[in-house]
Amino acid sequence: MTATERGRLLTKLGRLIEDRAESLAALEAKDTGKPMRLARGDIAALARYFEYYGGAADKMHGETIPFLDGYHVSTVWEPLGVTGHIIPWNYPAQMLGRTVAPALAVGNATVVKPAEDACLVPLKLGEFAAEAGFPEGVVNIVPGRGEEAGAALAAHHGIDFISFTGSPEVGTLVQTAAARNHIGCTLELGGKSPQVVFADADLDAAVNSVVNAIIQNAGQTCSAGSRALIQRNIWDKFVAELVARFGKLRAGSPEMDLDLGPVISAHQKKGIDGFISRATGAGVPCLARGQVADGVPPGGFYVPPAIFGPAPRDSEIAREEVFGPVLAALPFDDEADAIRLANGTDFGLVAGVWSGDGGRALRVAKKIRVGQVFVNGYGAGGGIELPFGGMKKSGHGREKGFEALYDLAALKTIVIKHG
Ligand code: NAD
Repeated sequence: MTATERGRLLTKLGRLIEDRAESLAALEAKDTGKPMRLARGDIAALARYFEYYGGAADKMHGETIPFLDGYHVSTVWEPLGVTGHIIPWNYPAQMLGRTVAPALAVGNATVVKPAEDACLVPLKLGEFAAEAGFPEGVVNIVPGRGEEAGAALAAHHGIDFISFTGSPEVGTLVQTAAARNHIGCTLELGGKSPQVVFADADLDAAVNSVVNAIIQNAGQTCSAGSRALIQRNIWDKFVAELVARFGKLRAGSPEMDLDLGPVISAHQKKGIDGFISRATGAGVPCLARGQVADGVPPGGFYVPPAIFGPAPRDSEIAREEVFGPVLAALPFDDEADAIRLANGTDFGLVAGVWSGDGGRALRVAKKIRVGQVFVNGYGAGGGIELPFGGMKKSGHGREKGFEALYDLAALKTIVIKHG
């Protein structure tokens, strides 16, 4: 198939998704528990991935390279072959679009292993791909347990690349399996992303952003803003505002469309509750908690949002990924201290820098070791056009944007001696 034809198919699939956006959003909300508002945004992003990479498919081209006299050298991008995609339960729709659309755009066939806790939209997407006219075998959705179907996919000799999003522990297993087969792999393993708030920032905008970045998807977001680093001279004022906001947050069912939904499973709730009780036991002050709304259906896995602070710099709550609506707040003294603190975990995914001083914001943005930095804003999961990925324990490889295409394709150099 030509690149243009591939692009058209991707675009067509994007339109099919748009046409059925409301029913897909309802399915995503039902499967994951997220509020409808968020699910609608996820489906819009899913459609946008196919639109973006549909447009990109016939714009990825090689170069000619000056070489010796009598030679013509050019490079061409080729598909890798079959790419495997192990995706998590937090954003099943978005994750599928993010990883599969660029793989298809460059001409690969794909095998997707959705998470056992949320696979309904990925399965539906398999049907849509067939309807859009993708040839049989090009889009394969294979649900199953991680240790069974996921491990089998990662270790399969027929796979030419594997992309994984999930926990660092499973990431190690997937990368080891990829190494045995000498294939490439992209790992996206979460984070402990800071928002750094200087005293000269627009504090109202910063407060909104700090709250939203940790409650989005009940904190189950790899790029959640889970650390608020606050300059010491505005600590009292800023924290008072956060406390007021946290106290008003409400968790409810998807249809209630409140600030956040339940978390994905009893297992996930137990894990988050464990972080909360260990932080409390260690004497870290819990400054505020939200509430579960009246009238939620019984049996849901609700976790009222919590803010802890000042969290000691070496405490678990300040360093480890909770993957729930739990914010750790820490004070810092000056620019150097802010950078040290922002870089003070094993992770390096996203950061936000809030300052009215453009020079300072840029200096700090350049010194934080993460894949994406937002200045006077924060984009947990946002921006299909923006290259995204980790440093340190957050993983490696880049997804989103045009750059994603390069990881999913092989560059071939053709050297012609013409005399
Ligand atoms: P996980 O890593 O176990 O699961 C992610 C995906 O990997 C799922 O599709 C799962 O079936 C698959 N998988 C599990 N074991 C596998 C194996 N041995 N081989 C191949 N694939 C396997 O994540 P989880 O248990 O769903 O969540 C645990 C923690 O992981 C969370 O609390 C969170 O910290 C982190 N997480 C991060 C992200 C992210 O976006 N970075 C997403 C989900 C979970």
